[in-house]
This record gives sequence, structure tokens and C-alpha cells, in this order.
Amino acid sequence: MISVSNIERFAIHDGPGIRTTVFLKGCMLHCPWCANPETWGVQPVLMHDEKKCVHCRLCEKHCPQKAITFEPDFHIDYSLCRACGTCTQTCIPNALEISGKWMTAEEILDEATKDKKYYENSQGGITLSGGEPLFQFEESFELIQRIHEEEFHLALETTGNYSLEKLQKVEPYVDLFLMDCKHLDPEKLYHVTGADYDQIMENFAYLSKHCPQKVIVRMPVIWDFNQDQIEKIIEWAATLHFPEVDLLPYHSLGKNKWENLQMKYSYAQYPLMDKKDLMPAVEYGKKIGIRVKIGG
Ligand code: SF4
Ligand code: SF4
Repeated sequence: MISVSNIERFAIHDGPGIRTTVFLKGCMLHCPWCANPETWGVQPVLMHDEKKCVHCRLCEKHCPQKAITFEPDFHIDYSLCRACGTCTQTCIPNALEISGKWMTAEEILDEATKDKKYYENSQGGITLSGGEPLFQFEESFELIQRIHEEEFHLALETTGNYSLEKLQKVEPYVDLFLMDCKHLDPEKLYHVTGADYDQIMENFAYLSKHCPQKVIVRMPVIWDFNQDQIEKIIEWAATLHFPEVDLLPYHSLGKNKWENLQMKYSYAQYPLMDKKDLMPAVEYGKKIGIRVKIGG
């Protein structure tokens, strides 16, 4: 079984054509702008939406673990919560939900197969995302092999933050790597995200040597973190013969999820990034002979 946070049908930004994106749980990084913080842990997790909550306190009454209190405000004690879901059943306005469930590879494939004809008509397929889709490695590898056997186009939206051995094992089954390059300064990358620069670069070097055409480099462009890196990363990707860099301008879509998990979202004060401000990077890419796109 593999822990899945969400399955999104008709996705159009996670690779070519119409796709089904499977968000797998577990990640070794902790990027402070993360849009899916509920995927960091492998285990299912309870989320509470204060905007929907009417403070009826039925959840507090029914929780067998006494994990919910209201002193002074609604609070989940995650050290007690077992994500059993009892409270979600008592919550009439649906302010509580469990994010994550355990599924077999076959159950995931059954879900994805529903849209097979859309994939065929649009050259789409399945994207594994997360979290880091290789975090639950053995289970992910089984799923990747099954997707390949069924001849679906498979894209992997990945941090690249794992051993070369793991990459070598999955590479033959993956049609497209959407792999992040967030910063070229190892210290800064580690300090802000927890990522291992040398590991990621080793994996990029392997893909550059063996299958550069299967790689799109993705760069989330983040205020006060890596705006100065845009041209450097485009140049670096061109040197490694990757055909495309996708710049993903900062957005705050994950903000509510951070709040619903009782976590502080440190990017709350930053505005959305305007795609127009990234247009010079597209021109720069043309100048040095690499395709640069804004958005995925
Ligand atoms: S049951 Fe739902 S609406 Fe009532 S207090 Fe709990 S979370 Fe809020
Ligand atoms: S998920 Fe279960 S253990 Fe957690 S707060 Fe709700 S009822 Fe309590």
C-alpha cells in the first residue's frame, strides 16, 4: 500500500496533454512556500478549516483521544491525534478532513484508467507528484512499473533529492522528469529547504548524460530567495543540454493548508509574482538557445 494525498483528474500543468496527477505523501524537504504541506508526512493527517468551523464543539466531545481542545481556541494536539476520522463524521459544516489514504497500485491505476481516452486524444498520461513521489520508494517503484506496463505516459514531478541508485532504478520507466532546481548555492539551498545540493546535482548529471531530452528543469521563483538565480539556472540547464526550463512564479495557494495544519506560513506578506516580470528570462533563453517557459 502507498499513502496518497490526492488524485487530481484533468490536470493540464503537470506535463503534456490531459493528465491524472497522483500526489504521493512524504517529503524530505521543508520549503517554506510549499503548496502541499499536508504531503510532508507519510501518515494521513487531520486538517481544520477555521473559516467553516461554527465552534459547536461536537468534535471535541466525540474524539476518543481527547486530541481536540478549545482553550482558548480550536486546537488539535497532533501528538494525540490518530487521524481516525471520528471527528470528521460529527462535523456538519465539513470543517475537518483527513488528508491522505492508503491505496494499492491497482486502485490508483483503476482511477487513472477512467480517463484513458483523454490521454490518448491529448498525448497525456499520469504524473506522480507529492511531496516527493519517490519518498515511499519501494511502493512508488511498484506503481511506476505498473504504469509503464499499462503503457501510460508517465511524468515524475520530483525534487531529485535521493540517491543516484534510486534514480537509476526508476529512470527506464519514466517518460518525463519534471525536476526542480531551486538554487545553485548549496548552503542557501540547504538552509532554506533542507535539500542536499550534491545529491541533486549528481542526479541531474546522470540524466544529462543518459537522457537529457527526458528532462524539464523546473524552478519555483521565490521572493527574496532565488530571483537572482534565474539566469544562472537557465545557463546551467543549457550547459547540461536540457531542452527546457519552466519558471514557476510564486503563488500563495498553499497558505490555507498551512493554517489548516496549525503551521505558520512565513510567506503571507509576499504578493503573487507577476508572470510579466519573468518575460526577460524567456528572451534570455532564446539568446542562449534553450526554451524557457513561464508556468508548467
Ligand atoms: S465539529 Fe466541526 S464545526 Fe463543530 S467545532 Fe468541530 S470543527 Fe468546528
Ligand atoms: S482524527 Fe480521531 S484522534 Fe484525531 S482529532 Fe479526530 S477523532 Fe480525535
